[in-house]
Amino acid sequence: LGENYDKSIAYYSDTIFHDTVAEKQLVGDFDKALAEKQFCMYLQPQVTSEGKLLGAEALVRWQHPKRGLIFPGDFIEVFEKTGLIYRLDRFVWELAVQKLAQWQKAGRDDLYISVNISTKDFYYMDVYETITSLVETYKIIPSTLKLEITETAIMTGTAGELEMIERFRKSGFQVEIDDFGSGYSSFNTLKDMDVDVLKIDMGFLRTTRPERLERSMSIINTIISLTKTLGLSVITEGVETKEQIDKLTQMGCGIYQGYYFSKPIPVGQFEDTYL
Ligand code: C2E
Ligand code: CA
Ligand code: CA
Ligand code: CA
Repeated sequence: LGENYDKSIAYYSDTIFHDTVAEKQLVGDFDKALAEKQFCMYLQPQVTSEGKLLGAEALVRWQHPKRGLIFPGDFIEVFEKTGLIYRLDRFVWELAVQKLAQWQKAGRDDLYISVNISTKDFYYMDVYETITSLVETYKIIPSTLKLEITETAIMTGTAGELEMIERFRKSGFQVEIDDFGSGYSSFNTLKDMDVDVLKIDMGFLRTTRPERLERSMSIINTIISLTKTLGLSVITEGVETKEQIDKLTQMGCGIYQGYYFSKPIPVGQFEDTYL
């Protein structure tokens, strides 16, 4: 027992108890930040190859009073680890639903917003109940709220989560697998579960060795063909050049999200530019 026991203790204490000072500060700042609405929603457009707007993904930013604008890469993981993430996600979902309600009242019921759902959200709240009650409160069309879930979230989930995804789809929500192809079980996920949209992991567009890019593009090509066979929509994320878009459009991709069209921008700027 001795040696392994010590190792496992060391492992747990490293991962759970030894947060860095910076992480502890972010966690300590959380309640106040949420109460003072320091978190805000940026929108990144999703468009056709011709640049016609279809909708947007909601991406959170933290306008920190001392540290300035902080990106999710610096806090999502810490909030997932500490169980705060569900409160942040609920807040972002509400911002998205409020915005959709406003657009729909103004006659723009053709636009959707995609929101991110963290794996950890399923542990801490009833995601189905939370989202459907937001939709009822603000009276939006359910199909205009897209739910982005990573394949890891789906595959590490229980049967309960698969059932929940079915319930969402039956209630008219669109469900999307985010970062498709980045996990260990992409095809298993598809086998076991019906979804509406695949978003191809942007890692396939970036290879450190240029001679591998062709292989990577064939994988994308195969994923796109698969979505046709299964009757799913497909989005390519992280497109930065015209060349990429031309290639992907030839392969049959219809929807794009990436810096070539726009970075994520504050809601006001999004509305000024696109609506
Ligand atoms: P994600 O869901 O895969 O979102 C896409 C990320 O790629 C965004 O980073 C976006 O700004 C970036 N991106 C988009 N187009 C391009 C491009 O052409 N080139 C490059 N290099 N990057 C591009 P961001 O906003 O920093 O978010 C990072 C991750 O943080 C997201 O990855 C998502 O996993 C997580 N996240 C963001 N907002 C939320 C949220 O409200 N809730 C949860 N749970 N996670 C969130
Ligand atoms: Ca996403
Ligand atoms: Ca993604
Ligand atoms: Ca991601």
